[in-house]
Amino acid sequence: MKKIILFVMISVFVLPLQAQSKATNTSPRIIILATGGTIAGSGESATKAAYTAGKVPIDDLLNAVPQIHAYGKISGEQIAQIGSQDMNIVTWLKLSKRINEIFKNNEADAIVVTHGTDTQEETAYFLDLTVVSDKPVVLVGAMRPSTAMSQDGNRNLLDAVMVAASPKSQGKGVIVAMDEKIYDARDVTKTSTTNLETFQSRNFGPIGLIYDGKVNYYYQSVRNPSKKFDITKLSSLPQVEIVYGYADASPNPVYCMINSGPKGIVYAGMGNGNFGEPVGKALAEAAKKGILVCRSGRAGSGRITLENEVKDAELGFVVADDLNPQKARVLLMLSLTETSDRTKIQENFFEY
Ligand code: ASP
Repeated sequence: MKKIILFVMISVFVLPLQAQSKATNTSPRIIILATGGTIAGSGESATKAAYTAGKVPIDDLLNAVPQIHAYGKISGEQIAQIGSQDMNIVTWLKLSKRINEIFKNNEADAIVVTHGTDTQEETAYFLDLTVVSDKPVVLVGAMRPSTAMSQDGNRNLLDAVMVAASPKSQGKGVIVAMDEKIYDARDVTKTSTTNLETFQSRNFGPIGLIYDGKVNYYYQSVRNPSKKFDITKLSSLPQVEIVYGYADASPNPVYCMINSGPKGIVYAGMGNGNFGEPVGKALAEAAKKGILVCRSGRAGSGRITLENEVKDAELGFVVADDLNPQKARVLLMLSLTETSDRTKIQENFFEY
């Protein structure tokens, strides 16, 4: 009996303290910026699916994983406390500005952002295009709320901290660490509504793996231009909408959009960004009115190529290359803060 009590006391009090005390003067300073999501989700039952995202505050998240302190000097900040379905441009700007400020003031050597999985890919790409630093920025989330049996958030958070602390993560652009894999922000996408292994990079695969406390990289994207978009003076972004393509689609959504005055429309087309005639006519009218029309695809992988079945130059369209519609929107919004020149914006889609 005494042995059991001693064992419990060592496990509960001594092991976490040991983990916490491992950071030394040379350990990296890592700030964890929390935005909410399922990783901070809380439900009434450990086995039922219902829960509310973004309930658990950052301090509780950190206290639940004392092992993170072995990898650096960790501190946390609450940026937002929302399900990422409510992520918005104001919060993107706040997050990006704070990260740039942290690195400029040398407050940290690396940053981890906890985030819901629904829109994590968009936030990651937005940060990738706007954060000016070679230091690691790692996004992480979870598919099961913190109160669930076999929840994935604690392990994912520990892995994300390991990735952020690793010198190998320098100069990789913004990355996503989930489910023992590391993904490039530009390529990663959520592919399953409920599966734990939801994130994938369908065109190119993960760039690295995390296993047994080790971080290993295998590939690196060359689409990481040193010139980032300057958001320091921005409090909003140009309005860009997405319209979905399908068989026998009516052009009505495009006309409604035109009337709402957007600066850009991303078309999530069939196959290689294709459309039926009525939608094509409506999109061409949008382009004539000066709205930047970008063809992307609903297929989930592959590229949209210029002048294939669509006369892009004649109709005034650009193509998204291999960006999915939601990421094409991010790049188009940022591009439109600098220019409305179609040729220049097309160059951005081939460069960023
Ligand atoms: N709806 C949640 C969110 O994106 C889902 C998750 O985090 O997995 O915040």
